[in-house]
Amino acid sequence: MKGLAWRSSPAHSALPRHWRDRLPDPAAYYAQHVARLSAPNAHGYATGCCPFHDDHTPSLGVKLQGARGAWRCYAGCGQGDLVTFHQQLTGLDFKAAVRDLLGLAP
Ligand SMILES: [Zn+2]
Repeated sequence: MKGLAWRSSPAHSALPRHWRDRLPDPAAYYAQHVARLSAPNAHGYATGCCPFHDDHTPSLGVKLQGARGAWRCYAGCGQGDLVTFHQQLTGLDFKAAVRDLLGLAP
């Protein structure tokens, strides 16, 4: 595959070059993982039910526009970007979460 850099580190822990550019689109990712996701407002932010606590009133804010996929739970589950969201959802460590998001083997 083009664009992969396996030379300097073992394959199981290496991240491809420019991995951040290859992350899923936040709008598509959050649509899959966040229940009752709203349409984004003028600033690209949407709300939905937080998957990290028993959320009945949407208290998760996610940014659907832009590459980082910023999120914040207003009930106190935390905040971060697409990768930390995926980490928290799956329990994977940082590199494993990125590889999972890219569709690569763990
Ligand atoms: Zn929460």
